[in-house]
Amino acid sequence: MKPADSSPATIDRLAADTVIVREYLDRVGQPQVLDAAAEEQLLARIKTTMHANNARLVAHYYVDAKLQDLAESTGGFVGDSLEMARFGREVDADILLVAGVRFMGETAKILSPEKTVLMPTLEATCSLDIGCPIAEFARFCDAHPERKVVVYANTSAAVKAQADWVVTSSIAVDVVEHLMEAGEKIIWAPDRHLGSYIQKTTGADMLLWDSACIVHEEFKARGLLDMRKLYPDAAILAHPESPAAVLQIADVIGSTTQIIKAARNLPNKDIIVATDKGIFHKLQQVAPEKRFIIAPTAGNDATCRSCAHCPWMGMNSVQRLLDSLTAMSNEILVDSKLAERAMLPLQRMLDFAATNQLKVRGKA
Ligand code: SF4
Repeated sequence: MKPADSSPATIDRLAADTVIVREYLDRVGQPQVLDAAAEEQLLARIKTTMHANNARLVAHYYVDAKLQDLAESTGGFVGDSLEMARFGREVDADILLVAGVRFMGETAKILSPEKTVLMPTLEATCSLDIGCPIAEFARFCDAHPERKVVVYANTSAAVKAQADWVVTSSIAVDVVEHLMEAGEKIIWAPDRHLGSYIQKTTGADMLLWDSACIVHEEFKARGLLDMRKLYPDAAILAHPESPAAVLQIADVIGSTTQIIKAARNLPNKDIIVATDKGIFHKLQQVAPEKRFIIAPTAGNDATCRSCAHCPWMGMNSVQRLLDSLTAMSNEILVDSKLAERAMLPLQRMLDFAATNQLKVRGKA
């Protein structure tokens, strides 16, 4: 197993992630910033093209607000990865446009093999996916055949195909509790922070893979405590991919959808949020009277990743979406045998979610 600490190997991996993004941006350039008129024209073109092709857009909360609005105004959907997967399967469309990162496109294709799945770019990956290569992970699983393998949705199709269960952050604790009640021991991959949180919450016997989200890993507990002094009445909402010290301070810990629900329902006017700042668009929509504040990321050891925004999510743009749909490029294809095997743990997750009331956790 890879060591669960900030070892040189982990630091090298994170540096490698940054290089991948930098190289991509050098190659393709940053998404173009358009003036209002050009943007309106572009949106009109893509709406017409989507309609003509019976295409629907599913977008993650972390992508550009324009893509989120476009999805909702064209019969598509904005949500977390579990909801995106469900919607993509159920919607009556020939083409699914997935604005998010690669594993989301792959999951959409596995669940809807009859649909064409396109993405604005195929290079939008995820540090968790990169940090869990299949060959290494398969060896790890083979070394512990007595354990159930539970993997996060942020993994490749090959890693999913190796698993007994796939989970998202909205359902992970409930699934592990369910397995624990059945007397199972668990292998968890790839996010070590989410894994530790689940382990602590459930008391389950879990072996953890070592990978992390480069965005959430940057949230700083000390800065958060300082911020709480500035906003003493604020609620702190955190995604469980954040470090344990941050989760310890949080009033609510949950997936993106659970964070949005809590933000709407809590009485606090000020809300400090420890997750990708792309979510602020939806938060402001559901609770316009509240003030949302991004949790601090910059500290003495801050890096260029300390911006609370996923560089891979940031690769998605309306222009790239139109280019992909027009040229029918950036199609997601998954080997049919692999898809068949990966479908089993995905289906387990969807069935479990359909029959269980998922909980939001925290002190609030
Ligand atoms: S925010 Fe983190 S977990 Fe989400 S896609 Fe980006 S790197 Fe992966």
